[in-house]
Amino acid sequence: MKYFALFGNPVSHSISPRLHNSALCGLGINGIYGRILLEQGGDIIDKFKKYNLQGANITVPFKESVINLCDELDSIAKEIGSINTLVRIGDKIKGYNTDAPGFMMAIAEFGKINKALILGAGGTAKALAYILDLSGVDVEILNRSDKSEQFNNYKFHTHTNFTPSSYDLVVNTTSAGLCGDELPCDKHLLNDIFSNSKFAFDVIYNKNTQFLRLANELNVQNKDGRDMLLYQAVLAFNIFFDNKFNQDNITQLMRGVFEL
Ligand code: NDP
Repeated sequence: MKYFALFGNPVSHSISPRLHNSALCGLGINGIYGRILLEQGGDIIDKFKKYNLQGANITVPFKESVINLCDELDSIAKEIGSINTLVRIGDKIKGYNTDAPGFMMAIAEFGKINKALILGAGGTAKALAYILDLSGVDVEILNRSDKSEQFNNYKFHTHTNFTPSSYDLVVNTTSAGLCGDELPCDKHLLNDIFSNSKFAFDVIYNKNTQFLRLANELNVQNKDGRDMLLYQAVLAFNIFFDNKFNQDNITQLMRGVFEL
């Protein structure tokens, strides 16, 4: 029996166990994926070893703090500074970030993106800015507070010093709209942004946020974060098994879970 888990706080809302257990079951693997609520991120590696886990995922608020506790880091995770996946390789524990490549898979249907505006400046914004930049996209950041020192390689704006230009893609990575129905910035400003944009993406999933509703009203093609969640899980699952499974098979097994 192989054991896997999600670490975070909170974890009860997460559908990661459903996604991974569906793939384990569908591929006939003798394994189970659970969830572990933690008070402190410093405990993750001890618990990983104590429960004899083969692999794990990390969610808020531990994605950045656990990075210093890994024996090894994948190069993308190292550059971004946050991880969402841990895997046991021999007696070492290696950290990966599959949020960033999962996002790129989710936006593939938009076609070639040359210029993107990211709303928000948290951990997800850092991951997406890095992977977009790596793919040759010209990236700008817009946040309510000034965090420009954390985004040295990008054009950084706050709401008060920003004049929109035109963008292929606008991504909401703020938590505005997650619990309530807020917009990530003033409605007039977002109107101006969308008026010169082709695509909109909200990392929040399974919710028709006000950000997405406004994009719809202005005929900006858009999607929510469900595929990003799906693909980060597909990539993490395959990392747990040394990439030996067919990615399309895992995707198919996991995709069905959203309809449950
Ligand atoms: P962080 O807490 O690191 O960052 C949150 C950002 O949102 C900050 O820049 C903050 O601004 C901004 N913000 C928060 N509230 C508001 C508001 N009311 N108005 C404007 N800006 C606001 O969060 P993460 O980056 O870790 O996560 C962000 C979102 O991404 C969450 O909703 C999470 O669920 C989602 N997510 C989705 C994934 C998927 O697979 N679909 C994967 C990972 C994350 P400030 O800096 O000024 O505080």
